[in-house]
Amino acid sequence: MESVKCGIFYKFATCVYLLKRITKVGKTRYIFVTGGVTSSLGKGITASSLGNLLQARGYRVTIQKLDPYININSGMLNPYEHGECYVTDDGHEADLDLGHYERFLNIRTSKNSNVTTGRIYQSVIAKERRGDYLGKTVQVVPHITNEIKRCIQQLSAGSEYDFIITEIGGTVGDIESLPYVESVRQMLWEKPDDCLCIHLTYVPYLASAKELKTKPTQHSVKELLELGVQPNILVLRTEHPLTKDLKRKVALFCNVSVDSVIEALDVPSIYEEPIKMQEEGLDCEVLKRFGMQLEPAADLSRWKMFVEKQKNATQPIRIGLVGKYVELPDAYKSIHEALIHASVYQDRSLELSLFQSEQITEANVMKKLEGLDGIVVAPGFGQRGVEGKMIAVKYARLNNIPFLGIGLGMQCAVIEFAKDVVGYFDANSTEMNDNAEHKIFDLMIEQKAKVRKEGTMRLGAYDCVLKEGSVAYSAYGTKKVNERHRHRFEFNNAYRANFEEAGMVFSGVNPESGLVEIVELPKLRWFVGTQFHPEFNSAVLNPHPLFMGFVAAAVKMGEEKK
Ligand code: GLN
Repeated sequence: MESVKCGIFYKFATCVYLLKRITKVGKTRYIFVTGGVTSSLGKGITASSLGNLLQARGYRVTIQKLDPYININSGMLNPYEHGECYVTDDGHEADLDLGHYERFLNIRTSKNSNVTTGRIYQSVIAKERRGDYLGKTVQVVPHITNEIKRCIQQLSAGSEYDFIITEIGGTVGDIESLPYVESVRQMLWEKPDDCLCIHLTYVPYLASAKELKTKPTQHSVKELLELGVQPNILVLRTEHPLTKDLKRKVALFCNVSVDSVIEALDVPSIYEEPIKMQEEGLDCEVLKRFGMQLEPAADLSRWKMFVEKQKNATQPIRIGLVGKYVELPDAYKSIHEALIHASVYQDRSLELSLFQSEQITEANVMKKLEGLDGIVVAPGFGQRGVEGKMIAVKYARLNNIPFLGIGLGMQCAVIEFAKDVVGYFDANSTEMNDNAEHKIFDLMIEQKAKVRKEGTMRLGAYDCVLKEGSVAYSAYGTKKVNERHRHRFEFNNAYRANFEEAGMVFSGVNPESGLVEIVELPKLRWFVGTQFHPEFNSAVLNPHPLFMGFVAAAVKMGEEKK
């Protein structure tokens, strides 16, 4: 009898659990993040922080960015214009905000996570040419807006996600943002119970009046309202704390509840933002709006541990980054963040100095790079600044300073070694000199047949098998890894034996093509070059093994110097 009762109780409990699970995960909710007043307010960080909080409650979350520019992707954008070009596993050249999404949520994004106006139009025009619109006049509304909505909703096609957060690039009021805001309006209208809009604005502080001003926020919300969108939650970026009165005023003018006016006070590290947003109740406001359970709160314990470590790490670690886009720190965003992750885990405060490679010469290299605990030579394209990169590599090699070369940085390390150690004095990459006798990096035969520049790139994630006993192997602690590429030229395997004889180890190789992915000089403290971009695979809760290894060597070097 007892066991029958038990069985019934068990079945009942299972049904309740399943029901709960179904109501919790059965449908996808859409959260739109728009921005007003000015650009660069950190919509990406707000979206990532919210994603983080919802994920820490056990929900399945993904984030995407819709970019209102006409470029098809970020591949051909100058880093000066748009910062780093981020690459997804499936080889999409994306906006750098996707890097934040991955670092905050430890997820993998894809080409569907970043859609531009160019791609929207490309797809609509292709459909028009195919005759899909059956003779109809193709217009912004409904055809472009339908395509935008399709791009948003396709992420939930397999009901994979409980929440899709869509960041709308640009600022509300821009001409080019209009079709996106219109699509948000339509979705809010079509699925009122499953959609909400968060609007991020700026509250400036007038020093002369000693006052925070809400007028720009009011205007920005008006602008949204004129387009038919009533934001549900307002996140106000500010350099000074907001008073309850100010929040009340904003709430009254903008038709939102006071609790839905969220303060986003500047914080020393972007990684504190999820904690701040939790304190402000951003995730609770979202869940309330969807009629979802508020308890238990998001478990941020691991995240908080990282932030605590970051705050307490006072001992500096001095890393130099040699590249050609140093005037704009966003150009190397992922490298910078990956170095921060690895430094924090080793209780160090990262002191990153950026060096313009064009300005490094044989005569000044020592003065510039002396005293560093580690040197990173950055990826890049084209001849400009290559000489200086090569000089920096040589300085690291001859002075046994921990070194990490990424992409072109790795290629420079190999070419420098070729010239100075192997004895190929005119060694080069075809990219820099098509007439060099020793083209150590060259296009592969199948690439040479392609004419369009974008077609010849190796993009996205590829497997790499590691050599046992190598530095890379001990850093990763595994035999096979998967890393992301974005380059055109490859190490020419015809030279491999000569390099090996001279002491270079090819510690990572693609198992299908045999292409060289990692090189190292085992006689030195830590000298590794990767053809791929390890920086794209470093997350706050999952720091990258190679960056961890590099920083550990740099820490050791710093200790030895004392
Ligand atoms: N310009 C080099 C190539 O295309 C390296 C690119 C990079 O740094 N990822 O091969």
